[in-house]
Amino acid sequence: MITLEEARARVLGGCAPLAPRPRALADARGLVVAADVAATELIPPFPNSAVDGFAVRAADTAGAGRDRPASLAVLGTLAAGQAHEGEVGPGQALRIMTGAPLPAGADAMVMVEDSRLSPDGERVDLAAEAHPGDHVRPAGDDVHPGDLVVPAGTVLGPAHLGVLSSLGLVDVEAFPRARVGVVSTGDELVEGSGPLGPGQIRDSNRRTLLALLDESGCQPVDLGLIPDDEARIAAAFEAGAATCDALISSGGVSMGEFDFVKRVLDRVGEINWMQVAIKPAKPLAFGAVGGKPTFGLPGNPVSSMVSFELFARPALRKMMGHRVWDRPRVTAVAPDGLRRRPDGRLQFFRVAVRWAEGGFEMASAGGQGSHQLTGMAAANGLAVVPDGDGVAPGERVEVVLLSLPGL
Ligand code: AMP
Ligand code: MG
Repeated sequence: MITLEEARARVLGGCAPLAPRPRALADARGLVVAADVAATELIPPFPNSAVDGFAVRAADTAGAGRDRPASLAVLGTLAAGQAHEGEVGPGQALRIMTGAPLPAGADAMVMVEDSRLSPDGERVDLAAEAHPGDHVRPAGDDVHPGDLVVPAGTVLGPAHLGVLSSLGLVDVEAFPRARVGVVSTGDELVEGSGPLGPGQIRDSNRRTLLALLDESGCQPVDLGLIPDDEARIAAAFEAGAATCDALISSGGVSMGEFDFVKRVLDRVGEINWMQVAIKPAKPLAFGAVGGKPTFGLPGNPVSSMVSFELFARPALRKMMGHRVWDRPRVTAVAPDGLRRRPDGRLQFFRVAVRWAEGGFEMASAGGQGSHQLTGMAAANGLAVVPDGDGVAPGERVEVVLLSLPGL
């Protein structure tokens, strides 16, 4: 057996970032920016009003208050998207809306709340003193040309896409989503809702792995369900390698008599067979088919998911340009403890983590067998329990956070 760290080093060392290319903003959320983006324009592009109200010369409102309003002549009304031709002169005001350009001559805004318009709309009484710059957003208040607005390595979120849009950009140089083919192998597997024949079970891994890929920002490609047949497994891997950036199979990598994936991968790829000192997910095949990183995950449903989390997900994130490869970890109290036996392996427990008044707390999420997928379904964390007798009640444990409510 090799350590988790050693196995991860082999896997991550075998995956390189994909070539960046321009991507339409409409399809860029979650992608990693490959080159610094610097601003070429001012944002806002012109000084504009932060309120609905009256653009004035601040000096005209000196000493104004509730009992002694300043009375100014109203030049007209300006909506956002319009520009005023003339100038606001002494004793004059222009009624403008939030976002409208501050007219020439004016240097401050008085909020509509502090104003009273005459019935004919010709004059306005302003009950507040304005100071130069009041309620005015200067040009470039957010961004100046040359500002580094989105550095390389940024994971594009909604606000980044907004910043890029406000600069008039329609695409961005980014690492692509990895196209990842998924294949299930096993003579016992069937799909769909039909009755099960003797010895048959339904394929769950493919659905799960495709969803994990989608959740990880990859482009999942369903390569189907393949029986334990060397020629068909080889054909599936080779066809997948021709169109995908990486391949994932589940099943057929253990010590069983019909573990053909092993034989096929040895023939068509350059594969590293590992026994990793973890539970679940001890067996792992990793290498390349047709130059494409290929993961042979174990067949047991929980094992395939844990193996995906520990090896495939970080590697695929690396390929997609991410600088953080792993899920966040927190420590959580285990009020009931987590019991295990020493076996030389690091054990990952499926746990339900919740925030409990100032700290994280966890409980076992259900059956801990590698075939008990409902435990994984009820879990939002993997507790990392070192070799030994486990965790005593009330102790703190490190947990890989898979999800949190609301996140
Ligand atoms: P294997 O790694 O092929 O020896 O499979 C280990 C266990 O996982 C066996 O009980 C298989 O029936 C089960 N298994 C393998 N592939 C799948 C799958 N795609 N969906 C559900 N169970 C599977
Ligand atoms: Mg099998």
